Amino acid sequence: MQPIKSIDPQAILINTHHINEVVSLVRGGTDALTYAKPIKLMVPRVRTNPVIGIVPISSGCLDACAFCSTRLVKGVLFSFPPEVIENEVKKCVEDGCKEIWITGQDTCCYGFDRKTNLAILLKKLVEIPGDFKIRVGMGNPRHLPKFLEELVEVMKNEKIFKFIHLPLQAGNDEVLKSMRRGHNVQQVKDIIITLRKKIPEMTISTDIIVGHPTETESQFEDTLKLVQELKIDNMNIARFAPRPGTAAASMEDQVHGNISKERSRKLTKVYRDLSLTSNQKWLGWEGEVIVDQKKEGGVEARNYAYKTIFIRQDLPLGTKLNAKITDAQVFFLVGVPVC
Ligand code: SF4
Repeated sequence: MQPIKSIDPQAILINTHHINEVVSLVRGGTDALTYAKPIKLMVPRVRTNPVIGIVPISSGCLDACAFCSTRLVKGVLFSFPPEVIENEVKKCVEDGCKEIWITGQDTCCYGFDRKTNLAILLKKLVEIPGDFKIRVGMGNPRHLPKFLEELVEVMKNEKIFKFIHLPLQAGNDEVLKSMRRGHNVQQVKDIIITLRKKIPEMTISTDIIVGHPTETESQFEDTLKLVQELKIDNMNIARFAPRPGTAAASMEDQVHGNISKERSRKLTKVYRDLSLTSNQKWLGWEGEVIVDQKKEGGVEARNYAYKTIFIRQDLPLGTKLNAKITDAQVFFLVGVPVC
């Protein structure tokens, strides 16, 4: 690839750490490629979906997972100040957002660099007046035990979707160790059992990597067993791909692509069965949903557990209505409006 400067020597290069400076750099500046800690909040933004406000709460994380290149780019955890996050959420609500997605590379370690945590932040956010629900983004389960009870309590609040995204990545301790995840299988089981006990309808979403270096067939089978045992509702399945500069890229015992492909196929089959079973539990349910996506032939809405409900009717984004679930497919539910 031809270096940008050889195409245009006047080009100004910036990295994601300097995104807040785009305007001033365009007006006259030099390359900004250094590491920095911008607070990416309260800046002008165009929402692709007017009813969803995406609010980053931090950048970077406290870990160094062997397969992860994000950490190399984003650096160590930098939690944004809670009061700035609050103001951003208030702004989203004033703008008409019905769903607030709080995000970060790892939401579960939010605040550890500020002597606070995610649960304390959420307690403040649910006090913001207005008609909205918060969706908590992905977090490394290894940090959760430090504030799990507190988190469960605040997640009972009606302003928070009963949804959590905890990437397990694998169901075998040796593989987790080679991934340098910092958690083991039992810790994850304990967390999910607690969550399900306290909030039974909680939707649990996870990420799994198949074919990580060193993963044997029987270790992969452990992953299959774990997701079945925990009855995971949603799953993002990735085949391991070496990222330049990461520890996993140079590990011995790389797993052949054909084997990863086969493992991905097996896991996908298990996931489809789990997802369908999870969705079938909602058949006949009736309750409030929020329309948040336009789809061909209708709209998609979400209920309090962040389940995806397809409604064959054209409704404006942000509409709240009562719906009854009439069908359960593998990846979504089908609902009809009820009075
Ligand atoms: S996978 Fe997540 S927790 Fe692990 S290093 Fe990457 S961003 Fe951090």
